[in-house]
Amino acid sequence: MPATPNLPTPDFTFDADQPGACIAGVRPYRNGSYRLDAETISSKFFVHNYGHGGAGITLSWGCASKVRDIVRSHLVGSPDTKVAVLGAGVMGLTAATLLADLGLTVTIYSDRPPLQTTSSKAGGQWAVSVVEFAGKRQELTDIIKFAYTTFKASIGQGFGVSERPNYSATPSHNLDVVIQLAPGLIKPRQSLPREPFEGHTKPGFVYQTLLIEPPIFLAKLEADLRARGITFVNKRFVDKSDIIASVPETIVVNCTGLGSMMLMSDPKMVPIKGQLAMLPPQPALQYLYGQDGYLFPRADHVVIGGTFEVGVNNETPDKSVCQDLVRHIASQFGKAAAKPLPDIHIHNPDHAPIVNPQIPEV
Ligand SMILES: Cc1cc2nc3c(=O)[nH]c(=O)nc-3n(C[C@H](O)[C@H](O)[C@H](O)COP(=O)(O)OP(=O)(O)OC[C@H]3O[C@@H](n4cnc5c(N)ncnc54)[C@H](O)[C@@H]3O)c2cc1C
Repeated sequence: MPATPNLPTPDFTFDADQPGACIAGVRPYRNGSYRLDAETISSKFFVHNYGHGGAGITLSWGCASKVRDIVRSHLVGSPDTKVAVLGAGVMGLTAATLLADLGLTVTIYSDRPPLQTTSSKAGGQWAVSVVEFAGKRQELTDIIKFAYTTFKASIGQGFGVSERPNYSATPSHNLDVVIQLAPGLIKPRQSLPREPFEGHTKPGFVYQTLLIEPPIFLAKLEADLRARGITFVNKRFVDKSDIIASVPETIVVNCTGLGSMMLMSDPKMVPIKGQLAMLPPQPALQYLYGQDGYLFPRADHVVIGGTFEVGVNNETPDKSVCQDLVRHIASQFGKAAAKPLPDIHIHNPDHAPIVNPQIPEV
C-alpha cells in the first residue's frame, strides 16, 4: 500500500511580544454539573444557564434550546412578553436568539461586549471537554444532539463553522462521550498506521469534528440580534439583589458564566485558566491536531492551546507559557527540541472530575 502523503506542516514562527499573540481566558467550570434550571427569587423567574467549563461553545445551541423550552412552559397563561438575558457570551447570545424566535422582547445586559467575553477566547473545537454532567445524562444527550445538528446546519451560513478532520496519537475522551451518549451522531474515529505529518512515525487516530471560530460566530450572533432590534445594555451587577432591583423584566435568564460564582454565590464554580498562542493564519492547514495540547488553524490565527490551571482566576497571559505551548506542538513535527512540560501544559485526557479545588476570591 502506498504511504499516505504528509499534510502541510505548520509554520511555528511565533513572536510572543506581538500584540494579541498570547492570550488567556478563564473557563467557567462547575463541580458536579453545569447549571441549567429555574427558580423564583423575589417574584422574578430566573433561568440559570452557566458552568459549562471547556465546552460552552460546543453546548451553546443545545442549552439555549433548553432555556427556550423552560421559558415557553413558564409563559403558558402568562402575559409576560419581555425577557432579560444576563451575559453576552456564547450562552447569552444563543439563548437570546432562540428566545427572540418565540416572539419575546429580549434585552441583553452585560459588563462586556461579546468580543471581550471568555467565549471570544475559546479555541473553538466542537468537543465535550472539561464539563461535568452528573445526573444529567439524558439532558446532556439532548443538548449534544441539538447543538451538533444546529452547528452542522449552519456551515456556509456565515457563522464561522466548518467540518475538519482532527488527528491525535491517542483516542479522544471528548469523542467517546459523544459516541456513548448519542450513537450515530458523528462518525466513529478511524485508526491510522501513522499520522500524516512530518516528524510523525507512530500510529494515531482521525475523526471528523466541527471547528467554530468564536470571533466569527459571536460577531454574527450579535449582528443578527441587533438587526432584529434586540437591545444590548452595558451593566455590571454586583450581586443577586442588584439584579432584582435593577432589571425591570420579570423573566431573567442568567448566562453570566464565571460571574455566577459571585452573583449566585455558587460554591461549585471553579475558574480554570487556559492560555492560547495565536500564530498568523495559514490557510493551507485544513486539519485540527491534538496531543497534550492542540492546534486549530482558523481564519484569524493558527491557535495553539491546551493549558488548564485549576483555581486560577486571572486573564493575564504569560508569554513563557505561550512559547512553551508552541515549542511543545512544534516538537511533535520535529520543528523544536522535545522538552518535558510542566503539569499545566498537559491536557487531562480523562477530564477527571475536579473535586474541591481551592476557590480564590474573585
Ligand atoms: C483558552 C480557552 C479555550 C477554550 N476552548 C473551547 C473550545 O475549543 N470549545 C468549547 O466549546 N469551549 C471552549 N472553551 C470554553 C468556553 O469558552 C466557555 O465554556 C464559554 O465561553 C462559556 O460561555 P458563557 O457565555 O457561559 O460565559 P462568558 O463567555 O464568560 O460570558 C459571560 C457573560 O456574562 C457577563 N457577566 C459576568 N459577570 C457579570 C456581572 N457581574 N455583571 C454583568 N455581566 C456579567 C460577561 O460580561 C459576559 O458577557 C475555552 C475556554 C478557554 C478559556
